[in-house]
Amino acid sequence: MSADPPMRPGVRQRRAFLSGGLAAGLAAAGLSGWPSRLRAAPFAKEEDVMNAKAAQPPGSDPSPEQMLRNLRLANAVAKQAMQDGRHPFGAILVGPDHRTVMMEQGNIDSVNHAESTLARRAAAAFDERTLWGMTLYSTAEPCAMCAGTQYWANIGRLVYGMSERQLLDMTGNHHENPTLDLPSRTVFARGQKGIRVWGPIAAAVDEIAALHVDFWRGTD
Ligand SMILES: [Zn+2]
Repeated sequence: MSADPPMRPGVRQRRAFLSGGLAAGLAAAGLSGWPSRLRAAPFAKEEDVMNAKAAQPPGSDPSPEQMLRNLRLANAVAKQAMQDGRHPFGAILVGPDHRTVMMEQGNIDSVNHAESTLARRAAAAFDERTLWGMTLYSTAEPCAMCAGTQYWANIGRLVYGMSERQLLDMTGNHHENPTLDLPSRTVFARGQKGIRVWGPIAAAVDEIAALHVDFWRGTD
């Protein structure tokens, strides 16, 4: 029998998640202890075209290799944000060649997330036609605020590493980050633009999640 007081389901799940397979599993580079819903789908099924009848962004889509490379760059920004005392979120804006990093941004605070701050800076620096051909990379799936800001900034593509649901499972109802449970695709689908979305990206999830596991466990 456990003497633990009753916990909300999300808290119970998170504590089990953090104290169980994850600590050992990450160290062994295995995420076998993760609930199945935390495992990302293969690349081929991660892309969605929002509002198929709307105009699509120009040019080619990023390759899986380019996505992974750019997500790793975004995760380096997230790591720097964490070292600067911020939450471990990072975003970068990449040009139409899928190689040139135009802008990078780490988390600032609870109302100035990496992606929305980057999108506002990008909207001030580039015209909307240029931005339509660019790609926003985010270590974690943009929340409603950030997806909305990307929409209004007119950035045509989004690639994210870890889903918002995956993040929610790690933050729970953390007072600094009570994560929304609202997919970015749901936000974009209610708009009128053909924004293209890829994520979660299975090959990047482990290294992105590693920053968050340590962070939210240490600040509870
Ligand atoms: Zn956000």
